[in-house]
Amino acid sequence: MADTDRSYLLPPFLKSRARTRIVCTIGPATGTLSRIKRLIRSGMSVGRLNLSHGNSSDHDGYVKILRQAAEEMGVAVGILADLPGPKYRVGDMAEPEITLTTGQRFILLRTPCDGNTERASVWPLGLHNDIKKGSLVLIDEGSVELRVDSIDEESIYCRVTRGGIMKPNKAVTAPGNTTTVDYFTPETEEALAWVESSDIDFVGLSYVRNGEDVVRVRSQLSAAGKTPQLVAKIEIQQAVDNLVDILDKSDAVMVARGDLGVELPFERVPSVQKQIIRMANEIGKPVITATQMMESMIEAPMPTRAEVTDVYNAVRDGTDAIMLSAETSVGKYPYRAVQAMTKIAKRAERYLEHPKLAGRRRDAASKGGLPVDDAIADVAAVTASSLNAKAIVAFTTSGSTAARVAAYRPVTPLLALTPNIGAGAKLALRWGVIPVAVKVHDNIQAMFAEASNLAIETKIAKEGDTIVAVAGLPIGVSGTTNMLRVITLPEPVSHG
Ligand code: ATP
Ligand code: MG
Ligand code: MG
Repeated sequence: MADTDRSYLLPPFLKSRARTRIVCTIGPATGTLSRIKRLIRSGMSVGRLNLSHGNSSDHDGYVKILRQAAEEMGVAVGILADLPGPKYRVGDMAEPEITLTTGQRFILLRTPCDGNTERASVWPLGLHNDIKKGSLVLIDEGSVELRVDSIDEESIYCRVTRGGIMKPNKAVTAPGNTTTVDYFTPETEEALAWVESSDIDFVGLSYVRNGEDVVRVRSQLSAAGKTPQLVAKIEIQQAVDNLVDILDKSDAVMVARGDLGVELPFERVPSVQKQIIRMANEIGKPVITATQMMESMIEAPMPTRAEVTDVYNAVRDGTDAIMLSAETSVGKYPYRAVQAMTKIAKRAERYLEHPKLAGRRRDAASKGGLPVDDAIADVAAVTASSLNAKAIVAFTTSGSTAARVAAYRPVTPLLALTPNIGAGAKLALRWGVIPVAVKVHDNIQAMFAEASNLAIETKIAKEGDTIVAVAGLPIGVSGTTNMLRVITLPEPVSHG
């Protein structure tokens, strides 16, 4: 069959990717079509836009080139847009960097102003109500530390207790204080309006406090006809306290270690990371481990050994995805950072404890009796492994069949054959799923024949090998996984 006649699309480089997904924040360092393509080739499966930085025309441009790159390369790439949420940040600055010295006075203002060495504004409004005299305030995850002397209507008067560099738009945190601000700050409303008019697969909810915050964002978006997957960013104590509820209401979670490490004592972050990953694995929802994973590569071509070990351990912990922030948005070595992550993840995956990870999901799903969907997904992974099958092919319209199998962390490569490229993009955070775009089939025999061709032509398998197929029957009814078949290649072509 000539390339152009193919009824499926599977670019060869996808087969050599890590099974752990890589999320890259897009910014000035990577915001062109050719750079996005390089990121994809290096291993990116989700491009992230942080709506707290840049403007809407920048973000429109990033969405356009992410979609174009994915289309031209024949790959499903997801787009994640992070909402500002009730997270405080300093405003604009007169200079790109302001140096504050220990012992000096400093004022945080309600009214927007260009920040300097004496003052800076804080957005969104509300910090005044959350803190009191004596409170500790950190800028940029602890780069600068302030102590509150007094507060009036307009100003928070502080003393700098640890000097350092302050940059525009960096986080302002008052550890231990809960924000009383409504989740829908003006900036969050603005970002939501942008999401409603854009083509986005995943929405990141910064500073989520409880399941209710997630439910409110979901209902606002669905009222506008949008159904992106919602990723709850766990970055404050309150979210850790409400994890079960938040996980229940979200589609995925992110361990946002930067803010988490200032909101709680930093020595608690590793155990919280492992706890969040385990809980996400149990309920079968994707989890992203984020922040400072390759931080030194913002400036340097090689990661530190501690960073290498951190990425390795996150993969071994069972994370679905690992993320790059400033490394790819403003860093000097964005592609090297992605390539380094790919290498480390692939190495860690050799030692992944598949049965242990599958067991997490099985134990949680079987409370009250294992549903049919999960029974099929589980047994597909086990069967493929015991038969030494070359691939599991999941026929999936909504993506849910493939997602369910991924939750059982199969040793065998997992292909999601979907006629719906949007479903492919929504699978982009799922551990180990290789989305493949296929034509629509109306009979199951034609689907088996297609899977057989795909496996042979792409050299995933050869004649005489086996592959395992899973699907939901009848065709076209999404949301069920009830069929498993072992195919010995080649499957006869259908005449149906
Ligand atoms: P969050 O807590 O949501 O991660 P952040 O401020 O840490 O917020 P990241 O998305 O992690 O932001 O990105 C890291 C840094 O990269 C930002 O602090 C910002 O300096 C820069 N950056 C990200 N996106 C953009 C953009 N679109 N334009 C300019 N700079 C950006
Ligand atoms: Mg954060
Ligand atoms: Mg960050």
